[in-house]
Amino acid sequence: MSVSGDHVVEPSAWAIERFGQHAGAVAAAVPVQLAKAHSKAHAAHLAAGLKKRACQICGVTVILTGGADSEGAHIQALGSPHNGPDTTDNVLCLCPTCHVMFDGGAIVLTDDLTIMRNGTESGTLRTHPQHTINLACVAKSS
Ligand SMILES: [Zn+2]
Repeated sequence: MSVSGDHVVEPSAWAIERFGQHAGAVAAAVPVQLAKAHSKAHAAHLAAGLKKRACQICGVTVILTGGADSEGAHIQALGSPHNGPDTTDNVLCLCPTCHVMFDGGAIVLTDDLTIMRNGTESGTLRTHPQHTINLACVAKSS
């Protein structure tokens, strides 16, 4: 995600209905906060050497011209009110589709790393011995 601080963001109809008179402020602030959080997840993802791994949810390895690629996604969101840690064990390697679904709440993890897709059990999170998952973050992620 790329968001410029100078970019004017109009609130969506959903945001206007949900936040009323505050919709403009929410629409302006959320993309910047999301961009900062995604940037930190990306940095942690790169620093840990996780970039070329398969998606931990669906198992797909996205191949770009530069080789395998995945996205870093925070398990427990950064910033208030979630206050997740900016650490590698709070980051998942996901394909773009699973990343959007995870951030949007369509995919959630249970405490034992079971994947729930829209409320239906859908396997277990793929893990790697060199990439620890912080279960406290998982517990606070949904
Ligand atoms: Zn995936």
